[in-house]
Amino acid sequence: MSLFENTLKQIELAADTMKLDRDVEEVLKHPQREIHVNIPVKMDDGSLRIFEGFRIQHNNYCGPYKGGIRFHPQVDKAEVQALAAWMTIKTSVVGIPLGGGKGGVIVNPKELSEGELERLTRKYIELIALAIGPETDVPAPDVNTTPQIMSWIADEYSKIVGKKSLGVVTGKPVENGGSRGRGSATAQGGVFVLNEYAKENGMEHGETKVVIQGFGNAGGVAAKLLVENGYVVLGASDSQGGIVCTHGIDPNELLTCKIEKESVKNCGLHVEKIHNQDEMTCKMVNNEELLETECDVLILAALENQITAGNADRIKAKVVLELANGPISPEADEILYKKGVVVLPDILANAGGVTVSYFEMLQNADDKYWSKEEVISKLKNIMVDAWNDVKENAKKYDCPLRVAAYITAISRIEEKIKERGGF
Ligand code: GLU
Repeated sequence: MSLFENTLKQIELAADTMKLDRDVEEVLKHPQREIHVNIPVKMDDGSLRIFEGFRIQHNNYCGPYKGGIRFHPQVDKAEVQALAAWMTIKTSVVGIPLGGGKGGVIVNPKELSEGELERLTRKYIELIALAIGPETDVPAPDVNTTPQIMSWIADEYSKIVGKKSLGVVTGKPVENGGSRGRGSATAQGGVFVLNEYAKENGMEHGETKVVIQGFGNAGGVAAKLLVENGYVVLGASDSQGGIVCTHGIDPNELLTCKIEKESVKNCGLHVEKIHNQDEMTCKMVNNEELLETECDVLILAALENQITAGNADRIKAKVVLELANGPISPEADEILYKKGVVVLPDILANAGGVTVSYFEMLQNADDKYWSKEEVISKLKNIMVDAWNDVKENAKKYDCPLRVAAYITAISRIEEKIKERGGF
């Protein structure tokens, strides 16, 4: 099943639960515009390569299309369609005036030189330039795309339109029009949601044990914030493997070690030394073992489809928080719900990133920049409000939080459709 089929199932489930008008459901199941480009790039050795790319503009009823660009060798159109639709829902869950879109280029950026990556980025933007803009469609970072890449995008687009246009893209470096706090916003938003959940469900901070799949921008930052908030991070992994330590890990040490030794999986001994504990307290685990570790909260901060019908039954966490997009399949959702595992869904839990992207758009438009404290406090208000809205719908419709988050978002979009007098 493609990732977009997962999205369609999620929309259907919410539509049935809320008894949504069938026309609105149909519209939400179809992206408004799909751009498919072939990007010619001169490689350093003089050869020419053509890379395939997409920009899918799912929906703009609530505001400009908004969403990141993913550079990945396995990305395909259905994946970008799914990610674009999730952006429409996500921006509405947090109630910011934006729609949803997503870009993807089929490439392994790790195999490209910096020059090749820059040429690829600029050419991709040239090919989609007519369809994007600060009031039309605003890209941002996603898997394998960085603040530097966002700077190239702003520069290329500005050249094309003949004026400085920083607001065409978010996630830029702070020195070049980026927002303070954007780099940690996805993790920060997720931690705000988890804090609310923990507070309301009697999870004591000092005793709440967390395991994190993915130790990159989202997962690594989340680990730091969680420890600062008094949680115990038991284990973490990256694409090569992971470690679990019964006494907990120090995320700062683990981040330093990961850079030095390439993967957190090589950091077991290092962590033992730091904690001066006996040697058996840390063990190397593979991805499967990490996901199935006994813990209170499992954070999924890697890629999609990590918990499926194949392993959902073996998940031992009480709560699963999705920092990645789409890490739990619809079948797994059902199994987890029946088992009583609470899922804090992506479209709420990772919406901190796009929320601070929206702040960046506001700051660019005003040419006035906010302090990090201001960004974090505004983000907290939005995340806590969204959590309360979703929770209320979960109660009202007696449904899982994901379905409730969809209902929260779709009701707002339906309202906009009414305001504009139809489709
Ligand atoms: N790529 C991020 C996401 O999936 C951020 C998108 C944005 O900031 O526009 O939510």
